[in-house]
Amino acid sequence: MYKLRSKHISQRLFLSMIIIILSLLFLSVPLIVSSYQSYQKADRALIEISALRAVADLSNKVSRERAPANKVMSSNADELAENLKELHAHRKEVDLQIERTLQILEAAGFSAQVRGLFSNLKVTLHQGRQAIDAYAALPQSERTSKQLDNAIKQMFTAWDSCHDILKNVLIQSEAESTAVSEYYTLILILADLRDQAGRIASNIIASITFAEKISADNLARSLQTQHQAYYLWDLVNTLQPEQAKTPEYLALHQQVKAQFLDQGIPIITRLINESMHNQAYSLTDTQLTEVMVDKFLTVVNLQTYILDYSVSIAQNQKNQAQQQFILTLLVAVICLVTVCFTMIYARNGVFKPLLKAKNSILRLAQHKITDHEYEDSPTDPITLLDAIKKLKHVLEQRDALEFQLRNIANTDTLTGVSNRLALDEYIKYVEKKSEKFTQTGLIIFDIDDFKQVNDTFGHIIGDEVIRLVAEKLQFCVCTSNLIVRYGGDEFLVLIEQVDFKDAWSIANKILEEIGSSELYIAEINQNIQISVSAGVAVGAASWMALLEKADKSLFQAKENGKNKVVG
Ligand code: GH3
Ligand code: MG
Repeated sequence: MYKLRSKHISQRLFLSMIIIILSLLFLSVPLIVSSYQSYQKADRALIEISALRAVADLSNKVSRERAPANKVMSSNADELAENLKELHAHRKEVDLQIERTLQILEAAGFSAQVRGLFSNLKVTLHQGRQAIDAYAALPQSERTSKQLDNAIKQMFTAWDSCHDILKNVLIQSEAESTAVSEYYTLILILADLRDQAGRIASNIIASITFAEKISADNLARSLQTQHQAYYLWDLVNTLQPEQAKTPEYLALHQQVKAQFLDQGIPIITRLINESMHNQAYSLTDTQLTEVMVDKFLTVVNLQTYILDYSVSIAQNQKNQAQQQFILTLLVAVICLVTVCFTMIYARNGVFKPLLKAKNSILRLAQHKITDHEYEDSPTDPITLLDAIKKLKHVLEQRDALEFQLRNIANTDTLTGVSNRLALDEYIKYVEKKSEKFTQTGLIIFDIDDFKQVNDTFGHIIGDEVIRLVAEKLQFCVCTSNLIVRYGGDEFLVLIEQVDFKDAWSIANKILEEIGSSELYIAEINQNIQISVSAGVAVGAASWMALLEKADKSLFQAKENGKNKVVG
């Protein structure tokens, strides 16, 4: 029964352990999942910002192709070969950049729509290049400013295709609401600013080349791009997050204002004014290109700075999210391992010894514990073991006392042999055995004419005679056999696993022992000659049957003249 209880305690302990571990998992798994999601989001943001950067780089290159193209278109026969070489080298670089960017976008998982836009870019770029090549192939005399302007506009269209890609990538981006996503729009606007800045001069260069008055359309376009440049420059500052307005950024932003907007644009305005007042242009097309390149560089620097900055922010975010995820995972694993260790320690270091001590106490209560059992348990709490030791000692004392009491209760006070109480216990014991009384031998002895002893010598001497008879019985039978004083002068001898022959000879031996010798009675200093009769019975279905059988034999022995054995 105690084993079952210990098992229950172990089961409950195991259940508690499972509940604690589950609770811990319940708390830590959402944390791990959410930090992993943040990490994935940051990773995605880095991929997207890198993709955006690649497209922005491409759009810059496409935008910049206009410079060597313009050079080719405005070159004289001597310069043409050299400038064409430069243009073709740049075109090759742009083509390579297109393929590289397409690969980056595909790897970043952008949809097929982007691929369609790239085909569009290739077509418009091809058309622009064709227009430029066609213009450059014309003899000087056949060239017109309209043809030149048209070729320039075709290249604008190619850039517009790039801008479409940039917008599409922006729309498809998923990493919203991250620290990086606010740079997405900024990148788009910067690409726009860069191109618009380039267009300011490109819109009037055809008229300058041919020393013609700037057409109304070109004038309108040039003015529009100027406004656009101011507006976008201002917008960049509005969109740039406050915390990202580093001194470096502020300086670059200011340089765009000081050099491009405040110095570059007035040069265009001056040329436009000269055109409007029908004056000769103060700059040639080549001079205009050269003077604007420096100013334009400030826009490029600002764009490069913000691109680098946004990518570094994305990289930092990703690293932070990764660290956060690893930390969360680590803390969760440490907690889990600690709980497991604590539970195992609690089980082995606390509960098991307690259970063992509890079992020892229970076993002790059932008298099953041995000394070495608790002496060999160094893990048991000392005080508890001491308590067990003391308890065991007390119980041993109690057992000894109980044994003594039981002996006293079971012993006949006159003779020292067992009494009827002991006989009752013995009967109960035999009845529990499967063979019951089938192999039990019973001899009943009764002192012959005992009344006469009493009458002749008195009861005290009578008692002495009874005691001496009991002594003879104890002398004649083994200690394993039970001798019971059944009545006044009547004794029973119970012998286990005996056959009739042996029982019979034991009865005769006793009869001879008592009958052949005289009993010396010290009180009267006299020998008394007595005899006993015996009834023998071996094996019966029950105690009563066995007793009856032996009793009948005894009766017969008395009938037959006493001092006899009948079986
Ligand atoms: P029988 O041969 O037929 O047995 O004759 P008996 O005289 O022995 O008759 P019985 O066995 O019936 O008598 C037993 C007597 O033993 C009766 C009683 O007075 C006496 N007696 C019983 N208990 C004690 C006792 O404790 N001490 C003494 N002194 N006598 C006892
Ligand atoms: Mg008698």
